[in-house]
Amino acid sequence: MNETLTRPQPADAAAAATEHFDVLIVGAGISGVGGAYHLQQQCPGTSFVILENQASFGGTWRTHRYPGIRSDSDLYTFGYRFKPWTGAPIATAEEILRYMSEVIEENGIDRHIRYNHQIVSASWSSADRRWTVVAKRTDNEEVRTFTCGFLWMCQGYYRHEEGYTPEWKGMDRFEGRIVHPQTWPEDLDYTGKRVLVIGSGATAATIIPAMASKAAHVTMLQRSPTFFITGRNANELADLLRQLKVPEEWTHEIVRRKILHDQAIFARRSREEPEVVRKELLAGVRQYLGEDFDIGTHFSPRYRPWRQRVAFIPDGDLFQGVRSGKASVVTDEIDTFTEKGILLKSGKELEADIIVTATGFNLNVLGDVAFEVDGKPVDFAQTVGYLGTMFTGVPNMAWVFGYFRASWTLRADLIGDFVCRLLKHMEEKGATMVTPALRPEERNMELRPWVDPEDFNPGYLVRGMHLLPKQGDHEPWRHTQDYWSEKDDLPKVDLDDGALRFE
Ligand SMILES: Cc1cc2nc3c(=O)[nH]c(=O)nc-3n(C[C@H](O)[C@H](O)[C@H](O)COP(=O)(O)OP(=O)(O)OC[C@H]3O[C@@H](n4cnc5c(N)ncnc54)[C@H](O)[C@@H]3O)c2cc1C
Repeated sequence: MNETLTRPQPADAAAAATEHFDVLIVGAGISGVGGAYHLQQQCPGTSFVILENQASFGGTWRTHRYPGIRSDSDLYTFGYRFKPWTGAPIATAEEILRYMSEVIEENGIDRHIRYNHQIVSASWSSADRRWTVVAKRTDNEEVRTFTCGFLWMCQGYYRHEEGYTPEWKGMDRFEGRIVHPQTWPEDLDYTGKRVLVIGSGATAATIIPAMASKAAHVTMLQRSPTFFITGRNANELADLLRQLKVPEEWTHEIVRRKILHDQAIFARRSREEPEVVRKELLAGVRQYLGEDFDIGTHFSPRYRPWRQRVAFIPDGDLFQGVRSGKASVVTDEIDTFTEKGILLKSGKELEADIIVTATGFNLNVLGDVAFEVDGKPVDFAQTVGYLGTMFTGVPNMAWVFGYFRASWTLRADLIGDFVCRLLKHMEEKGATMVTPALRPEERNMELRPWVDPEDFNPGYLVRGMHLLPKQGDHEPWRHTQDYWSEKDDLPKVDLDDGALRFE
């Protein structure tokens, strides 16, 4: 990776006075870097800066360093629409970071990023028509102030410093080591150790086969199972197009369309014939585990397919680990931690040297930044989302909240187009302030949670939903999480339908 991309900023820059930019992007993860690209392409001449808390770019792919860390969706759709992906569909964090570093270098985005800047507050002044953003430098504790006309929040949805670990009885009794995948200790040697991984999601499914080769044994302990989809880590269509020497730009676009087409069919079938889809998914698992394995208990979830993200398991590596005896799966509940491991509610005790809590994230709302509009603190739970990206009563601000079941980046690209279109529209109108506001006839509109829990309900969202903005019961106040409708609707949204107030 190019060192200049990660170099800390010189200390004398920190001493400079308040700097002003047209647009300030928060976060240099996949969304922030994509936002910068769109801004450069679609709004040339707009001045902007990216402020990033960490010492380098990558966000999720830099924070997570556990064994085997990889994407669980394909990179043809998780990659940007504008930069061909040329590797295997499921990629390691290192490969994703390399791809991002190319985007940054090829587009000269590096000179716009300030690392080690943690944004702590953002205050909008309607009189000055600007945000004042205060950032604390994490490398030298200095406090810097920036102003901007538009704030583009690309800070993700969870707290990067620390993952979520439930409070279990007796945790302090355990004599081994407890680690969370989000804060993986560099010195953790698990060679020959008995490892117990608590969790059933994509993270657990990745860690288990990766640790199984060196550990004495890895046990996956889950309260309830998750759906997985298995297959080769290859895309036949991409391989064929490459054999035919089709240019990579075309291959990227064609393969994206094919994957998205197949996913739309999968989503529809999961709604219309969930039991058939369930059987198909379980048959994929069965082919690795054999007829005698109790798939009903360990791999058949209570929910219907697609209600939570379906993680892709390349070459069934998790199941191969179980088949070989290097890994095993236990479906039960924790009663208490003990000195030696975990006592289950069934009365069985699992012994371990290391316990990995793959139990998820702590959702945070807009990067834990303290927001104010004209001196009043903003409580995002009291706001209503406009197109799932702006918020009532909060001017000149957009948040990139991507898709969960489709790749996150598909929405980051769509919102990139939307923000650029909005900025150009403001310029044409001579407006310096745009605020979503419910129209008079919408004041009594039924308000719903930010994400419909009937439709999608992972633990971190359920735990944090009360802190998130609301959505309405019709457009443009809905947050559908549906790429297939938004890809057509978002670019055509009427900016002058009265839901946005321009001043
Ligand atoms: C292990 C893991 C695997 C995943 N795999 C997939 C996948 O395969 N496919 C998929 O679609 N999604 C996946 N996701 C979801 C993933 O988080 C998103 O897809 C995507 O990477 C999020 O990008 P982002 O840039 O929006 O946010 P993030 O990656 O969270 O990056 C946000 C950045 O903002 C910075 N930041 C936050 N707050 C502040 C602040 N106050 N001041 C300054 N900087 C701040 C952070 O340091 C970070 O660098 C995965 C998530 C995890 C945790």
